[in-house]
Amino acid sequence: MTRRRSSYRSLASLQRDLAVCRACLGAGYPLESLPVLNPGLGQPAYLYGQAPGPNEGLERRPWRGRAGQTLRGWLGMDEDTFYSTFYCASVTRCYPGKSPAGKGDRVPTPEEQNLCEFWRDWELRLLRPRLVVPVGTLAIGRLLGKRPLADCVGARFELAADRVGIPLPHPSGVSLWLNSPTNRALVERAVAAIHEELAAL
Ligand code: SF4
Repeated sequence: MTRRRSSYRSLASLQRDLAVCRACLGAGYPLESLPVLNPGLGQPAYLYGQAPGPNEGLERRPWRGRAGQTLRGWLGMDEDTFYSTFYCASVTRCYPGKSPAGKGDRVPTPEEQNLCEFWRDWELRLLRPRLVVPVGTLAIGRLLGKRPLADCVGARFELAADRVGIPLPHPSGVSLWLNSPTNRALVERAVAAIHEELAAL
């Protein structure tokens, strides 16, 4: 059952409603999991990925598969540090299933992305993070507008008063973008900028 209030006073109450959201199913889209939820509360920074994969959908926790391991490796964080630093959200929160083309997971449609933006907007309003890290082209596009990875990874963006965005590419291993040493150097620059921001929080 989908419940959306006109206003939320706490992340805990927002998460109670997010946990049972079926808005995309109601709009006719196939989903293969319930919403994935951020574990715990009180994180100082916000991580914004694309959509959960099958492992995340099963566990209902974010970044549980190989991509999560790679991301934590880039950041130099163990699981405890990662989950206590970042409130992990994504453009959509339910596993969308395999791509009909048979390669990788289905990319959520623009309507599903719009339906799920409700949760992101309330999270940002309640959490008020100084640092937001969009991960992958879809999340970067939703926050910064569409742009090539090479034009934004390694850069800082003022998203709002007292809020900075530092993009990262998706660590899934599907993208060939990371094969380039120049691009890997951009990731290192982005990670250094993220740690600078975290140290200043
Ligand atoms: S993807 Fe988002 S909007 Fe769609 S059903 Fe899941 S939580 Fe709800």
